[in-house]
Amino acid sequence: MRVLLAEDERVLCDQIKKVLSAEGRIVDVAHDGQEACFLGSTEPYDMIILDIGLPMRDGTSVLKEWRSNGIATPVLILTARDGWSDRVDGLDAGADDYMTKPFHLPELAARVRATLRRSSGRTNPLFEKDGIAFDTRSGRTTVCGVPVDLTAQEMAVLSYLVHNAGRLISRTELSEHIYEYDSDRDSNTIAVFINRLRNKLGADLIQTVRGRGYMIEPA
Ligand code: CA
Repeated sequence: MRVLLAEDERVLCDQIKKVLSAEGRIVDVAHDGQEACFLGSTEPYDMIILDIGLPMRDGTSVLKEWRSNGIATPVLILTARDGWSDRVDGLDAGADDYMTKPFHLPELAARVRATLRRSSGRTNPLFEKDGIAFDTRSGRTTVCGVPVDLTAQEMAVLSYLVHNAGRLISRTELSEHIYEYDSDRDSNTIAVFINRLRNKLGADLIQTVRGRGYMIEPA
């Protein structure tokens, strides 16, 4: 799942990115409101974390622009402790959730997980099918109870397919959700990741729909 993180405090930004990346999220960073607005308008994020107090353009105006342009990506806003009116404005502008600074990183990570679950219509954070279990909270993956090590990219592919279980996902869509903005997106490497996942998890979990893409059946 690909997340846009719009935050101008570099240290906080690095900390958040580290925590989310460790859970297999692909995180793009914007340090000001203009960059945030551009990325959020042009890239297909699964979720956006938006600081309200951003340079160049404040987060609330960016959020209003996205919503008026029909961009429905779930947005979690970050506000200052005394910024109760920012929270009201942000929620009214179309934010889905908020966190007040300072916050504990594990709580932010949990809210991100909850938001991604809600937006994909999943209520259970644990995906289990035919002896394979994937915990969307930790990325922990087991086959018949035996832990399997996945690389960050394999986890990103599996996570996107699991969150969209029951829906056919094209290679292009998959590549848009597992690579960072400035990386070389090669949809051919998707087939490589799928093969590695099949080697680790068995051949049956991920189905290939010839010429169209991949799918995991719902649990
Ligand atoms: Ca700020």
